[in-house]
Amino acid sequence: METKARLVARQLELPCLDLDEAKTPFISPARRVYVNRDLKLSRCDWIGFDMDYTLAVYQQAAMDRLSIDATVQKLVLRGYPDWLLALDYPLDFAIRGLLVDKQLGNVVKMNRFKIVRKGYHGLRELTRNELRALYDQKKLRHKSSRYHWVDTLYALSEVSVFVGIIDGYEARGQTPPFSQLFDDIRECIDEAHRDGTVVDTIAADLPRYLNRDPELPATLHKLRAAGKKLFLLTNSRWPSTDAIMRYLVDGARPDYPRFQDYFDAIVVAAKKPTFFQQTQPLLERLRDGTTKEATLPFERGKIYEGGNLNDLQEAMGGGHRIMYVGDHIYGDIVRSKKDSIWRTAMVLQELEDEIAAHELSREDAAALVEVERRRAEYEDGLRNLQVRAHDLATRAGHGDETHGLRDELARLRKMLASIRRQLRSLDKEARTLRRKIDARFHRYWGSLLKEGGELSLFGAQINEYACVYLSRVSNLLPYSPQQHFRSPRNAMHHEL
Ligand SMILES: [Mg+2]
Repeated sequence: METKARLVARQLELPCLDLDEAKTPFISPARRVYVNRDLKLSRCDWIGFDMDYTLAVYQQAAMDRLSIDATVQKLVLRGYPDWLLALDYPLDFAIRGLLVDKQLGNVVKMNRFKIVRKGYHGLRELTRNELRALYDQKKLRHKSSRYHWVDTLYALSEVSVFVGIIDGYEARGQTPPFSQLFDDIRECIDEAHRDGTVVDTIAADLPRYLNRDPELPATLHKLRAAGKKLFLLTNSRWPSTDAIMRYLVDGARPDYPRFQDYFDAIVVAAKKPTFFQQTQPLLERLRDGTTKEATLPFERGKIYEGGNLNDLQEAMGGGHRIMYVGDHIYGDIVRSKKDSIWRTAMVLQELEDEIAAHELSREDAAALVEVERRRAEYEDGLRNLQVRAHDLATRAGHGDETHGLRDELARLRKMLASIRRQLRSLDKEARTLRRKIDARFHRYWGSLLKEGGELSLFGAQINEYACVYLSRVSNLLPYSPQQHFRSPRNAMHHEL
């Protein structure tokens, strides 16, 4: 007779389907969509896109060069010395997620606990002791006016200018007014954006400043063909939106002669993050460039300006059916996540380099884990022996003459000295490995998303607020438009 267990086992056998043909094709790690929180595209009727650094990917070095030149010229016009024009500004210095300390003229990187782990004054790296003395004394209020949080790719050039000028002054034996200097840099770059210096230069030579992604038109089409409605929600004004979007996708596909054909709603000059928080009016832009109050629902082909979260999602049938794809961790992702129930996808163009560095560092990272494990073992051993040695020393001090006590104490002290030597050697080994790994990610700051064994503060924000993250919009292309992006099971440490 068949046992109950065998009967159950037999019942569980299902017809074996060959799913090979149905599987998502292999996608290289750099081009995958990574999931922090489950996201069903089948439930997203509307998919929105930011433009700058999301649909439009800029050539970072050319953009930084342009911003730096414009900023420095405006600083000199404001009375800063002429020699600023001849300085060498380090284009490769800044990354997102840095904090500018305007009071001391430092730039620092924090881990997710807001502990400062790396820092520079000009291009001089601050030592661990300096960082401890400056930043470990009390809780760092990174949102206070003393600090400026660098969270967009636009802002990298401000940091390059800041450190370049500080080094310039200090090489001349002078100390610049750090805080004033940084505020002036910010004002000058804002002015360069406002008065058209930056926008006009880009518009005059789009191929120099923009990377055209050949897979973007197909990606947008695939989503539309599956019945999704697409919208564009950008802070850029209409003239530059028009020029940039035309350059990126116009004429790429015969079924979409104009970029407007991809979108069911186009909202420019949206003023995010204000868009998510206040009820600014939605305007319709007329052919002559004037505006009038808009009436909803959105009409294809019309251009809208401003607006607000409530009106937009009411017109789209509710916020729970909307996914928004952006690159600005605060303006696009954190704000929309805090103020709405939109699902979020964060475009992180640094991700491809980050993954490449991670792959190259696998062996060293495994070696580092092993060194840290051994170090922890030695340290725990040290603490245990210290207690025993202290106990024996106290007894000996009180005249305890037990046989062998002093010999045992001498033996323990010898062991302690040997463990300390081992610890020093392991510390050195760990430091060397960390430096080697960091250098593969970024010569000044290491990984964008990690710091030490922890997430960086920037990495923690992505982890917390972006449902999914990807290096470019076209990474969506190989997936089904109804894809269920599943997050890995989230285990707490006691479950591992
Ligand atoms: Mg953007």
